Amino acid sequence: MSAGAGALEAVIGLEVHIQLRTERKLFCGDSTRFGDAPNTNVCPVCLGLPGALPTMNGHAVTLAVRAALAFDCEVHETSVFARKNYFYPDLPKGYQISQFEQPLATTGQFRVRLPDGEKVVRVRRMHMEEDAGKSLHDRVPGGTAVDLNRAGTPLVEMVSEPDLRTPEEARAYLQQVKQILEYLDVSDCNMEEGSLRVDANVSVRPVGSQALGTKTELKNMNSFSGVEKAIAAEVRRQSEIVAGGGRVEHITLLWDDARGEVRPMRSKEESHDYRYFPEPDLPPLVIPVAEIEAARGELPELPHTRRERFGREYALPTYDAEVLTSTRGLADYFEAVARAADDPKQASNWVMGPLLAALKERGIEVGSSVAPAALAELIALVRDATISQNVGKEVLRKMLDSGRSAKEIVEEEGLAQVRDAGQLEGWVDAVLAAHADEVARFRTGEKKLQGFFMGEVMKSSRGKADPGEVARLLARKLAP
Ligand SMILES: [Zn+2]
Repeated sequence: MSAGAGALEAVIGLEVHIQLRTERKLFCGDSTRFGDAPNTNVCPVCLGLPGALPTMNGHAVTLAVRAALAFDCEVHETSVFARKNYFYPDLPKGYQISQFEQPLATTGQFRVRLPDGEKVVRVRRMHMEEDAGKSLHDRVPGGTAVDLNRAGTPLVEMVSEPDLRTPEEARAYLQQVKQILEYLDVSDCNMEEGSLRVDANVSVRPVGSQALGTKTELKNMNSFSGVEKAIAAEVRRQSEIVAGGGRVEHITLLWDDARGEVRPMRSKEESHDYRYFPEPDLPPLVIPVAEIEAARGELPELPHTRRERFGREYALPTYDAEVLTSTRGLADYFEAVARAADDPKQASNWVMGPLLAALKERGIEVGSSVAPAALAELIALVRDATISQNVGKEVLRKMLDSGRSAKEIVEEEGLAQVRDAGQLEGWVDAVLAAHADEVARFRTGEKKLQGFFMGEVMKSSRGKADPGEVARLLARKLAP
């Protein structure tokens, strides 16, 4: 889409399905646990058998309200459930309970950070609904099996206005929605397990036009990179159709990640011929204003606010604040270390540097690493020069692997920095004696060998020699 005559721009809206973190389903007491044996968590209510009556899971409503408020939506005192009727093998009762004309919340907005600034993306609506079951195409040879454990799992669908213009913006939006949902603790946001699913509406139009082109729906994107690649492929496909004088058809497309292409799923008529009827078994969902306001007051500090506060309160560079607030767990951890060490900049250096590197190597989360107070103790040992920075990094790895404290490790393994003149002199003399050639070359002017001697001494002392003292000794002994 180069600029100039006939240039096209993409218009993208995202529908994010968020699985709420509840133990029970939306309208019955069945478990929502992932990975249970197929069809073990089903009952007459989630199967819609005659006479079974749905009852509302209040906790799911609490989580949905929290999410809606975090995206600045207007939460409505009264919302209404409807039956969305369609026939599909993973929906044996023939309808899904969802909100249609009167959703839980509308007209939100959200500031998405982009490499060149921020962009406000409007949120059209957030509504509650139950999930359908799952068709399994790889269990029965030549057939399709259906697992209904997921039927009735509480979801919130978050629908954006078509305010996104590029695949990169769509990816940033989705990543930041996920980050906020994690801060809110309303969903585990696991894309592989389907806790966060996204559909995209994509159209193209001439740059400068306000009218919307015919859109297509993209489904089956289950990673951030999948979302970005799928939208890019669809924008290319539509741009080629328009450039060739053709018309884009309103269809639903599936993203094939392995082949890197989109393919049609079903026609417009089939996919949009939903009929909604009021759900006769559920009263309108009424949330008193006082409850909505109380929920607003209880919202946690969100990433944006926390990032700004970290910059202000701890005088951290923007980059540090960004990394440290990437998840709520990491931000909490950093703050605990900063307080315990009474040194935010050192806490930031240690958490962002050696700690994150070591966690990545081990594939563990910050929550299951060393306690904040234990890391603060290590920082103090480095700060008062009991151990060097490099030995400190080694001690941190030993702490992670053994669960021992920094002091224990330093003591038991004799890692404390050595400043004892006699011992330092012994190491220096041994190195100089073993490298008589280099000593001679140094004295004839090859001054850069200073670094070599230094390295040898540090090596023979296993990093324990005080570098300042060693430098002074070397200077004295190498003097002509
Ligand atoms: Zn059930």
